[in-house]
Amino acid sequence: MTSAAEHVHSLLASYPDFPHEGILFRDLNPVFANAAAFTSIIDALAAEFAGTFDAVAGIEARGFLLAGALGYASDVPVLAVRKGGKLPGTVLAEEYALEYGTARLELEVGQLPEGSRVLILDDVLATGGTVAATASLISRAGYSVAGVGVVIELSDLDGRSRIEGIPTHTIVSF
Ligand code: AMP
Repeated sequence: MTSAAEHVHSLLASYPDFPHEGILFRDLNPVFANAAAFTSIIDALAAEFAGTFDAVAGIEARGFLLAGALGYASDVPVLAVRKGGKLPGTVLAEEYALEYGTARLELEVGQLPEGSRVLILDDVLATGGTVAATASLISRAGYSVAGVGVVIELSDLDGRSRIEGIPTHTIVSF
């Protein structure tokens, strides 16, 4: 059987200088567009974190795809961590620096019981700012961070140093 990592290596597309000069953009859409590849990623993340989480949180936008599928596969609730200005009601916000530019992420409060263990999901771990901001939102909302699951880690950028102490699993590291 083809492993999740093998699927990613064979299907991933890489675009130099997108969306800015100097960025090698890793496009997972061809991976997600292959049913066997997508399923293998969800199964690998579900197995890695089995029994350690009560909910998943997907980071807009590609993290939503992973969170919806893994939430269903693991029969747990799904949280949407959204870009700034899109959520109604009482929201928590974190501003942070990206590999390119700055960003703001938000989370609605009161969606889960206090102390829920939340697994954070996204497509790419680059500088770690995005997952670190999300981990902070999860903590501030009264939950604990069960772990971080991503498909690709760009290890040169050392994103892991931003989330030290949080169990982190990546399907493929470059
Ligand atoms: P960071 O906060 O630097 O870890 O950036 C992670 C976020 O930016 C993820 O949500 C990715 O979707 C996106 N991202 C950053 N760098 C890249 C890259 N080289 N290729 C694709 N997506 C990236």
